[in-house]
Amino acid sequence: MRWDNFRRSSNVEQGESGGFGGSAPSGGFRLGGGRLGIGAIVVIFLISWALGVDPRVMLNALMNGGSQQETYAPDSNPGPANSGSLANYPGEPFVAAVLGDTEDRWTEILAERNVTYTAPKLVLFAGSTRSACGRAESAMGPFYCPNDEKIYLDTEFFDEIQTRLGGCPAGSKACEFSQAYVIAHEVGHHVQDVLGILPKAEQMQQNAGESDANQIQVRVELQADCFAGLWANRSQAKWKFLEDGDVDAALQTASAIGDDTLQKQAQGYAVPDSFTHGTSAQRKRWFTRGLQSGQLSNCDTFSANPL
Ligand SMILES: [Zn+2]
Repeated sequence: MRWDNFRRSSNVEQGESGGFGGSAPSGGFRLGGGRLGIGAIVVIFLISWALGVDPRVMLNALMNGGSQQETYAPDSNPGPANSGSLANYPGEPFVAAVLGDTEDRWTEILAERNVTYTAPKLVLFAGSTRSACGRAESAMGPFYCPNDEKIYLDTEFFDEIQTRLGGCPAGSKACEFSQAYVIAHEVGHHVQDVLGILPKAEQMQQNAGESDANQIQVRVELQADCFAGLWANRSQAKWKFLEDGDVDAALQTASAIGDDTLQKQAQGYAVPDSFTHGTSAQRKRWFTRGLQSGQLSNCDTFSANPL
């Protein structure tokens, strides 16, 4: 991908050292596949109805706030954070460029719906840092914390996409777009927050059983994938920034971080009821949907059946 034209965001921060006293992370979303209960169906119907009538209202009605973490670790052991190696992190300009373009494109997309986009901060860290959702550890992978409206990105994860996860052809330039997809996915969670979708989803989950709560979370995650694709669509229309192999690399990444794939890697088989991000096929499908359509209305994972 060619990102020289992207405006550099001023919202990239380095993770602070030091512990974060006390406050436990707000409930991490733990959801998985499985059948929906009647309560969840009603909620989703209401969400879709709201969306159909007025996308802004619908989104507001859909979800509203909770913590949107990919995973989360309890803040049980606050202590000094290790962020010492970031001073000269060579990937910072790239991260700032991708974040900057998401800011510009989402400002345009939401303006079409008379919604003002407020950009999130992105915290780069190595090792661990503190967040308003608890302690951030490298092992957690990237996540979005709605409590402080910040994206937490450990720099090692970008390497892991290529190495441990096999998310893109190792060493290829196309891996940049895989990284951009990961950033755009987290930005997608922030967009869900801006639109009121996250808080609503969390509310729905609190009133649901574990299986239904997981199913809601899958829809949250797949929508973030769709939003990532939507950003790429709009950026491509403006900059023609994509190069050969980029989309394939992002799809490979989406596939590599699907719950079924990750679970099979970890334990040799997949347990659908504990899926919280969607299967590899679903992640590829929703990213592609956003990428090809470029329309927010095509990212309504809450009324899609099957996903
Ligand atoms: Zn996510």
